[in-house]
Amino acid sequence: MLEEVGVVMDKSTWSFSWMLATQGISFWINILMLIIILFWVLSIIWVAKDIMARSNRLSLQVLSVFLVTFFSPIVWLPIYRVIRPIGFMRDRLPWREAAVMNLVVCYNCGTLNPKEHECCLACGEALKIKCKQCGKDYPHSYGYCHFCGAPNID
Ligand SMILES: [Zn+2]
Ligand SMILES: [Zn+2]
Repeated sequence: MLEEVGVVMDKSTWSFSWMLATQGISFWINILMLIIILFWVLSIIWVAKDIMARSNRLSLQVLSVFLVTFFSPIVWLPIYRVIRPIGFMRDRLPWREAAVMNLVVCYNCGTLNPKEHECCLACGEALKIKCKQCGKDYPHSYGYCHFCGAPNID
């Protein structure tokens, strides 16, 4: 299989229709294998990043990455999506307590900022959004607009 791919490269014949017409089934199996390997590797990276954003329990992180690596993304990704922790860690920050202290939590990095700040002092992310109902600005991390009570659905 690999020799055939080598021959194609030597001839430097990269016309797609030429390849379609002249290549045997083993060439296309090689291409398919490459796509599957790429999908597999990207899935492992995605699971690793996703679980680290959702949990800081090392056992859960190692188990998730181990299972996607050895049981294939096709089998594991649907199971993973069911059993992973629902929220991201940054969303479980104590924004209610912060609001009482006149602080707001940056939605992007989790840093506590004074309520009057427009942008995060640590990452520069905008801290306020415009209410769709009353048009006033309120902190992004609030569940509801504190002027009119409209839910923060963005
Ligand atoms: Zn920030
Ligand atoms: Zn409002």
